[in-house]
Amino acid sequence: MLIFELTADMDSLGLARRLTECGAASYVVSGDRPRVVCECGTALRSRVAQLVAGMITREWLQARVVERVCRMEPLWSAEEVQFHALVEICESRLKSRPVAGHTLDEWQASLARALMSHFGRSVCIALDPFVRFRLHRAVVELAQRVRDRLVASALEDEYEESLSMLRYMLDEQPLYEAELHVYITPDGVWITDAEGGMVSDEQIELVALQDDDVTSEDLAMTILITRSPWRIVVHDGYPDAPWPSFSETVTRVFGDRAIPCPGCPTCRPNRSRTGSRERFAFDHRSSRAVRRRLTPEAERTSDAPVDSELGEG
Ligand SMILES: [Zn+2]
Repeated sequence: MLIFELTADMDSLGLARRLTECGAASYVVSGDRPRVVCECGTALRSRVAQLVAGMITREWLQARVVERVCRMEPLWSAEEVQFHALVEICESRLKSRPVAGHTLDEWQASLARALMSHFGRSVCIALDPFVRFRLHRAVVELAQRVRDRLVASALEDEYEESLSMLRYMLDEQPLYEAELHVYITPDGVWITDAEGGMVSDEQIELVALQDDDVTSEDLAMTILITRSPWRIVVHDGYPDAPWPSFSETVTRVFGDRAIPCPGCPTCRPNRSRTGSRERFAFDHRSSRAVRRRLTPEAERTSDAPVDSELGEG
């Protein structure tokens, strides 16, 4: 006979049923900490250990991960944490993604071995204290991943909201019969008309220069929305831009009106300008970068002494 003491959030009836199904007749003794009493001979012990370890690396693990994330981020909804924990644990198992150095199947096997050796010493096992230390690293790593998932999901929601706002602003603008070209490079974004003439808006730029957080992408988007062209050709010279890329944002805001450049001499050289990307990475979001990126003068040569050209201010 073996006796397993469970925590209140574990499915004692489910465990008893599964154990009985595999031949180890079991029943539940209810209480604050329910106990599952399992009648089994030595021949069945290995199977019992497998089943119990399986429940631990599913139900128990998920409950502890949720508990930990909720403690770290008390403002997040428990349902959302629960959902992401379930997805993370299922994916880790299905894709055999290592958790703290081992797959969940490996954690389960090692737990089953530990249970087997414990059976030799005592018939009664309080499962929570037995596994809490053994699975601590797995709980910590999974909780971190669930937290990352929640942060990413919140950012995606925020992005979708900003897209809706931009689409709303665009809907308010009358459509103009113009074709504009957007050039996206690691160094910044600029806009030209169909003939290649630089498109800018002094008023918008003046307002933007007073705000350090405004990027050349924000400015370009504002110009695109106020000009509301019927067609935008997107020259994406920065296809590996971090999410959300400007090319994605333009395409999603303008829909069918935005088309990718089918290939032109301007896009191609930008793809190999890794040197200049590194050079400008440090001030990617600074107002200085905005000034540089939005001025036709500065675009002519990337070595232009920008501040002296434009004057300090
Ligand atoms: Zn192009």
